[in-house]
Amino acid sequence: MDSCIGVEQDLDKATTKFTALNDHASKVLEDVINQVEELRKEISKQALNTPLSQSQAKAVSELTATVKQSVFQLSTDHRELHATVSRVGKSIDRHFIADYAAVAPKAESFCSDTNRPIMEQAIAQHLYRQGLEEVGDSLVSEAGVSAERGSTFAQLQRCAGALAAADPAPALAWAAAREHDLAHSPLPFTLHRMQALKLAREQGVCAAIAYARAQFPAHAARHERQLQAAVCALAWCTPAAPPPPPQYAHLLDPKALGAEAAELFVREACALLRLAPHSPLAGAVLAGARVLPALHDIRAKMSHPHVLAAWADDELPLEVELGEEGGGYHSVFACPILRQQASDHNPPMRLLCGHVISRDALNKLAMGVKLKCPYCPMEQSPSEARQIYFS
Ligand SMILES: [Zn+2]
Repeated sequence: MDSCIGVEQDLDKATTKFTALNDHASKVLEDVINQVEELRKEISKQALNTPLSQSQAKAVSELTATVKQSVFQLSTDHRELHATVSRVGKSIDRHFIADYAAVAPKAESFCSDTNRPIMEQAIAQHLYRQGLEEVGDSLVSEAGVSAERGSTFAQLQRCAGALAAADPAPALAWAAAREHDLAHSPLPFTLHRMQALKLAREQGVCAAIAYARAQFPAHAARHERQLQAAVCALAWCTPAAPPPPPQYAHLLDPKALGAEAAELFVREACALLRLAPHSPLAGAVLAGARVLPALHDIRAKMSHPHVLAAWADDELPLEVELGEEGGGYHSVFACPILRQQASDHNPPMRLLCGHVISRDALNKLAMGVKLKCPYCPMEQSPSEARQIYFS
């Protein structure tokens, strides 16, 4: 963020200078044009083919000198502007690190004959997941990639797209077909509320109240306060209504409500269908962007032979906290005791108490036929632990 602010300051300087120069140049040019016009008018007053008087000739030569001087001054100012603009470029170079090669020493492996098709497939899958089917189709046919088109994500994206455009109908139909599964989700109420407010805008408050009477009672217990707010908001949907108070502004803004509903829809639908909210590519990019600053900070240490020897090829030397935005899922298990990623040789083991550690850690902690869980004091037999498989 500091980098952005730094560049912005230099950019602001350049823009201010540019605007000032632009104004100044316009004024100078206008001035010169006016002078030339006046002189032309004066000269055109006398008859054709008569020589200029001495004073006129003097005025012409003086004006020519002024024009030359102005042009020279403008081009000098313009040259100075170039220096300011190139300073912005240098500022970007200074504030942002372009060389990430040290952080990702194996980046070129993405381009190998084995990995390139996998990357292309991931890109095609991402495009399909984003609902960009036509773009995905073009990539698949032109690059000769094999990627499953899959209608699930396209359908979800269509619903989310309609929600973002303030139309809850497709999402309502989707949710209605899964009413039972969504019994504990806030999604159905959110969609019905959106539909009621849409009806109020398009067909009047009476239509909205009729819809609310039919749909809201089922959600009254769980969403009492939100429901009250939605019904109150209807009061500001009449044509003669004054501007709404701030607490209802959000409900009466179809765009904001739609964007919020679209986000909730994707999250709830993915959870219901047991799908990751991000495509593998988006997840990888998100995680990569998060870890990049930290990797950059330790890049000198990363290239140290001891570090290279200590870390496996497919492992990062630090943990990546993806947070809520990152999807909150892990495709790999890292042993909390040995702080190593699980592998086929050292798989995660679920203890009787429910805690999970790697098999190497389990073997180290086991005292004969007894094992004390390192997280809870439960005593158990190491043979009671079960291996966990990730699909
Ligand atoms: Zn335990």
